Amino acid sequence: MSATKPGRIAVVGSNMVDLVTYITRMPAPGETVEAPDFEIGPGGKGANQAVAAARLGSQVAMVTKVGGDIFGENTRRNLAEQGIDTTHVGTVPGKSSGVAPIFVDPQGENSILIVKGANADLSPADVDAAEETLRAADLILMQMEVPRETVLHTVRRAAEWGVRTILNPAPAAADLNVDDLRDLSFLVPNESELALLSGLPTGSEEEIEAAARSLIARGIGTVIVTLGGRGARLVTGEGVVRIPAVRVTPVDTTGAGDAFIGAFAHFLAATGDVEGALTQAARYAAHSVTGRGTQKSYATAEVFADFCR
Ligand code: ATP
Repeated sequence: MSATKPGRIAVVGSNMVDLVTYITRMPAPGETVEAPDFEIGPGGKGANQAVAAARLGSQVAMVTKVGGDIFGENTRRNLAEQGIDTTHVGTVPGKSSGVAPIFVDPQGENSILIVKGANADLSPADVDAAEETLRAADLILMQMEVPRETVLHTVRRAAEWGVRTILNPAPAAADLNVDDLRDLSFLVPNESELALLSGLPTGSEEEIEAAARSLIARGIGTVIVTLGGRGARLVTGEGVVRIPAVRVTPVDTTGAGDAFIGAFAHFLAATGDVEGALTQAARYAAHSVTGRGTQKSYATAEVFADFCR
């Protein structure tokens, strides 16, 4: 794939702080149990995708909201340290930042709570206030951890401006109406999000392709289905292209989807080649599952180049 100049990517999305407690067992109601370890890490689907694209060398701007607390300050600093433009990171005084208390048991099973906090306040007006930045982007990336009206507003405005959009419909929402997404350029669900959005089964390869084609028939330009260790499928009106996963020994698959989407946006903005960008995204996400943590496991351009050698 030819290397060209880095693209400009804007993310309209969430930021969270992962509060990870490693437990021996969950306490029963009213009970107190000592836990062996605790870790704080930056997260949120929007921020994760922004960081993956920035580490690869894209110029990234984030439109998001943090609370007026120490987590908000940390998030702003973390984004800025990755070279991400934080001009449109707003603060909501008196509200908590988005946090995700996560409990990991000795078998590695995660139980996760999500507190959206200030992410719930990201409004269509915030998108309009960032118009200059968004219009200048090659691609706008979105997920569903901020209000739906803000996502749909962004999709509509981006279509007016002629800027291409990528929506990762996660977390999955059964009542997200596909007819509201006609202006979208790329929809990137995983298997279960595809099932919810299409209302169709996704148990076999044929069912997955049929479900994705049903969304194309309803007006979405391109559907990219991610299938974990089975790779991804690129589905357009012209047919289906299978993007194989890169074989690795997984250590921690948390955040693989965000690594994939951030890398896809980076390579698409840089080269304009959808299939090539997906092949690179599968490599980037495979590398991310070989390390622990979410953003911690996202490679820089140099580390990724070594991995691909
Ligand atoms: P998450 O919510 O955990 O971030 P997701 O469900 O959104 O994940 P997946 O489909 O699990 O996303 O993974 C995204 C991409 O990452 C896959 O399409 C694949 O290319 C790559 N990937 C994920 N797991 C593996 C794995 N075990 N080995 C190799 N590649 C993987």
